[in-house]
Amino acid sequence: MNTRHQRRKWRAACRRLIKRGNLYHYEVQHDPWCGIYEGHPCHCDPVRVLRDDSGRALARIEGAGFYDPMEMVTFGAPERKVKA
Ligand SMILES: [Zn+2]
Repeated sequence: MNTRHQRRKWRAACRRLIKRGNLYHYEVQHDPWCGIYEGHPCHCDPVRVLRDDSGRALARIEGAGFYDPMEMVTFGAPERKVKA
């Protein structure tokens, strides 16, 4: 599985699982050597876990590539139709 495929799979899982009005935890498990611990952008390939408000894992994915702090802003949100 390549990164792009995994990212798409993760996005689809988040869209399916995240419901308006509920609380979720988005856990990003970086490698110990990742730049994020030294004030740099992520350059590892973290495991991502979506948990419900009691901590139960709803989805988990590996191989989705670098973590971008903005990714959940769009990953969790349904596609919006923009009126012209
Ligand atoms: Zn990282």
